[in-house]
Amino acid sequence: MKADIHPEYFETSIKCACGNVVEVGSTKSDIRVEICSKCHPFFTGKQKLIDTAGRIERFRRKYAKFQNVAK
Ligand SMILES: [Zn+2]
Repeated sequence: MKADIHPEYFETSIKCACGNVVEVGSTKSDIRVEICSKCHPFFTGKQKLIDTAGRIERFRRKYAKFQNVAK
């Protein structure tokens, strides 16, 4: 390898909000993610909503009035 042109390479782990930890090699250390292949509905086959900062609640409140108009 040529000297001084390569970024530092770590043995690190990616930590997901669901608790899953994946050991990887990366140029970044201490990686945190909100969703991974263990908890994403596409891979689990289950509909599970991970509500970050009440976004779903805000969406429902916003569209509640449209449903009332339609009735
Ligand atoms: Zn996860």
